[in-house]
Amino acid sequence: MAVTPQPGIMEIDLYVGGKSHVDGVENVLKLSSNENPFGPSDAAKKALERAALGLHRYPSTDHAGLRAAIGEVWGLDPARVICGNGSGELLMLIAQAYAGPGDEVLFTEHGFAMYPIYANANGATPVIVAERDRRIDVDALLAACTERTRIVYLANPANPTGTMLGEAELLRLAEGIPDTALLVLDGAYAEFVEGYDAGKALVDRFDNVVMTRTFSKIYGLGGLRIGWAYASQGVIDVLMRIRGPFNLSAPALAAAEAAVRDRAHTEKCRSENARLREWMAGALAELGVPSDTSTANFILARFASEEEARACNDYLAAQGILLRYVGGYGLPDCIRITVGDEASCRRVVHAIGQFKGAS
Ligand code: PMP
Repeated sequence: MAVTPQPGIMEIDLYVGGKSHVDGVENVLKLSSNENPFGPSDAAKKALERAALGLHRYPSTDHAGLRAAIGEVWGLDPARVICGNGSGELLMLIAQAYAGPGDEVLFTEHGFAMYPIYANANGATPVIVAERDRRIDVDALLAACTERTRIVYLANPANPTGTMLGEAELLRLAEGIPDTALLVLDGAYAEFVEGYDAGKALVDRFDNVVMTRTFSKIYGLGGLRIGWAYASQGVIDVLMRIRGPFNLSAPALAAAEAAVRDRAHTEKCRSENARLREWMAGALAELGVPSDTSTANFILARFASEEEARACNDYLAAQGILLRYVGGYGLPDCIRITVGDEASCRRVVHAIGQFKGAS
């Protein structure tokens, strides 16, 4: 008898990853993965150097230092925080712990590409819910819930649309979903939104709401792989049982702890991102490339057609500017562009202007 994987696994496309180089081009500008152009805070880099002196030791298993820092900065109980190897690990652990064959995992039409993979990898059934004009539709999500729904994944702000649900709609969703399902509020881009609590108040109020966060975006530490989640004690106790004992490296823990405490750096990145995002969206609109109002560190640029979007993506790639064509997200006429530093934003707008002029 042949060894067979869980049903659903062979439905998943092999991960090809984003490119970070272009043959023959030296000055590559990567605006395809929503990374922070300003990099991590100096405090995080210093913490990383110090941690390098202790590499012969295993890292902390309980992540006490980082959890305490997160608790202090965000006003949370550290006992209800779990840290992961990127928020991706935690999103996957949630599926592993709560969804299996016969269960349904919901996410929306243009939702983050990993959600169906988390469902399929665990033998659960992915259920795609339609959006309305690239916005998450709470009524449609609630209508799609069944007694088999175990997880509803929702990124707020959403990737790749950049749109977000307001407090009232989130509350309606949290109140409306069955209490046999978890609502997972993926806050990978939450820090870019001034004053947004990323769902903390909902986690405090509903035992079946989980919030996930990452150090890959505003903290500029994507290369170290660190994320965290905040949930009810019951959910944390479950996830803690199945995570690896040493799932975060010592340098990652040290850098993240310093990064989360450096609020001035986070604030600088947030305000610079907002300023440059508005500038870039305005400049592209003048070129005939509109976008929805984004709340994150990228914009979703809309072209006249799929052909034009693909051609623009290729035109820029040929000169070393890497953007993310998002046809695979059900957005065939769109390209997602990360907000870079000022020079990068100007370079990308200039190149799109050239493309428009030439086509
Ligand atoms: N959620 C969303 C919406 C994302 O865009 C990403 C990264 N692109 C992640 C989760 C995962 O981030 P990480 O594993 O780096 O924390």
